[in-house]
Amino acid sequence: MLEHDVIIVGGGLAGCRAAVEIARKDPSLNVAVVAKTHPIRSHSVAAQGGMAASLKNVDSQDTWEAHAFDTVKGSDYLADQNAVEILTREAPQVVIDLEHMGVLFSRLEDGRIAQRAFGGHSHNRTCYAADKTGHAILHELVNNLRKHGVNVYQEWYVMRLILEKGQAKGVVMFRIEDGHIEVVRAKAVMFATGGYGRVYNTTSNDYASAGDGLAMTALAGLPLEDMEFVQFHPTGLYPVGVLISEAVRGEGAYLINSEGERFMERYAPSRMELAPRDITSRAIAYEIRAGRGVKPDGSAGGAYVYLDLRHMGKEKIMSRVPFCWEEAHRLVGVDAVTQPMPVRPTIHYCMGGIPVNTDCQVRSGADSIVEGFFSAGETSCVSVHGANRLGSNSLLECVVYGKRAGASIAQYVQNRKLPSIDEQRYIKEAKQQIQSLLDQPGEYRINRVREAFQDCMTEYCGVFRTEELMQQGLQQLQEFQNKYSQIYLDDKGKDWNTELVEALELRSLMIVGQIIMTSANRRKESRGAHFREDFPQRDDNKFLQHTFAYYSRAGIDIQYCPVSITMFQPQERKY
Ligand SMILES: Cc1cc2nc3c(=O)[nH]c(=O)nc-3n(C[C@H](O)[C@H](O)[C@H](O)COP(=O)(O)OP(=O)(O)OC[C@H]3O[C@@H](n4cnc5c(N)ncnc54)[C@H](O)[C@@H]3O)c2cc1C
Repeated sequence: MLEHDVIIVGGGLAGCRAAVEIARKDPSLNVAVVAKTHPIRSHSVAAQGGMAASLKNVDSQDTWEAHAFDTVKGSDYLADQNAVEILTREAPQVVIDLEHMGVLFSRLEDGRIAQRAFGGHSHNRTCYAADKTGHAILHELVNNLRKHGVNVYQEWYVMRLILEKGQAKGVVMFRIEDGHIEVVRAKAVMFATGGYGRVYNTTSNDYASAGDGLAMTALAGLPLEDMEFVQFHPTGLYPVGVLISEAVRGEGAYLINSEGERFMERYAPSRMELAPRDITSRAIAYEIRAGRGVKPDGSAGGAYVYLDLRHMGKEKIMSRVPFCWEEAHRLVGVDAVTQPMPVRPTIHYCMGGIPVNTDCQVRSGADSIVEGFFSAGETSCVSVHGANRLGSNSLLECVVYGKRAGASIAQYVQNRKLPSIDEQRYIKEAKQQIQSLLDQPGEYRINRVREAFQDCMTEYCGVFRTEELMQQGLQQLQEFQNKYSQIYLDDKGKDWNTELVEALELRSLMIVGQIIMTSANRRKESRGAHFREDFPQRDDNKFLQHTFAYYSRAGIDIQYCPVSITMFQPQERKY
């Protein structure tokens, strides 16, 4: 059995930042990071636009309180305001700290860190490294892992959280290279496993964003919070779905429909293209529904709208958003200097997740925590984003709360012993689970079932939701669950069996999908990214509450927990 003081699952921004903090706080601790990808291939590397902090380099009027207000308003008042206060107060300091670690941010003429406009933010406060911010930060954090001697298990797939009597004791994992299974025990376990974009058929997320950490937590009997809040990013490149960063609109690009009209005038006159993502995504969906989308020949009635950069000029496009230009050029053959880009909403971010307190300890209910279990980053829900995340607040969350997780873990493990685990039992169960997948004499290919499932989630639980749609969707999900026991694998081997990984990921996707749809069906109001055509108003009397969904094979139990409101009373949300 492998042993570490701390095992962190996830090598993205949140996991790496936590590992560095533990090593800084107590260099004698033995820390390990596990990732099913190489850490620098975590989805964080793809983050483009930047990271918010009220550094006041561009806008001297900015304050952390203004950042906090924008975040809470953006969240449609569902964010926990105590957590938002920590996020926005600590933001300037974590950016400077990253700079000291070696992250190369873009600069102003006078050498200070540059800051740009972003959707829903009232001041120019987004720090960036051109449109490759995640790349710049993650590479430096991974360098720092090496510097601090953190153990890295790369390309190991974690398949189970070991939770016994309310205490997290370790994980079960296998090496993708040769199928070798190991049990790891640790004094503290942290999940920083990222999002679940692949639950849907069109996403900006990478292939690894399969919600594994969420599913393992749910299977261990712990709740998932606010899973109905799924972020659609307004500008996914059509038809591939990859992201065209909000930074492009932050730098001045327009959204136009088939009539050549800047339609955001109708939906958010004061913020236009820089309205928050839920509002902008719905606006695009309405335009397409109303027949003002564009077709490939430029006529009306198509499935996308245009993102127009042409007036920005070549020099600005190439210096501020070169990667977005390159993506459109390489993937759909559009030269954004002379042609508008085709875009439509794409699944982007998971507002909900594993519930944690502000010290990143996992919560098992309104007032209880799980011993030895921590989480941060996209997979967690400390609820700084509530019902809708503002762009450039996620990288910030990963770093602020990754750091806090590291500090609280370093303290938690002091004077604790390694837990005892029945290693053989867990190895045997993992072998059986894998063997039964390999031996299954099924009739369905994994891809087929996955695609049908993703189409179902997209159709029945997308931008616009109703009770009737979701009831039908939930029935279909039940049928997909049954089909899962009839999938077959072509590859029966042990070495680099990526089909096996896909089969395990499909299980995660299905569990997460069922929790999203059930939570969405039960929230009979519209708030942030969750829009119910049958309940179009926000209902603070009944639903100014967090959803806690408890999964079991018998069904999903939904409970509600209070929201922390410490600074700003809920108001109508207008832009
Ligand atoms: C294209 C794109 C652009 C974005 N741009 C921005 C931006 O400009 N600003 C902003 O604030 N946010 C942005 N975001 C969001 C932000 O990048 C993410 O929310 C954030 O990086 C998530 O980091 P993380 O550390 O939580 O997880 P990730 O970076 O997703 O890392 C997850 C890690 O978990 C590992 N893992 C998962 N499951 C398992 C398993 N079963 N076993 C072992 N390892 C596992 C993976 O291998 C990976 O190492 C963007 C997102 C996308 C998709």
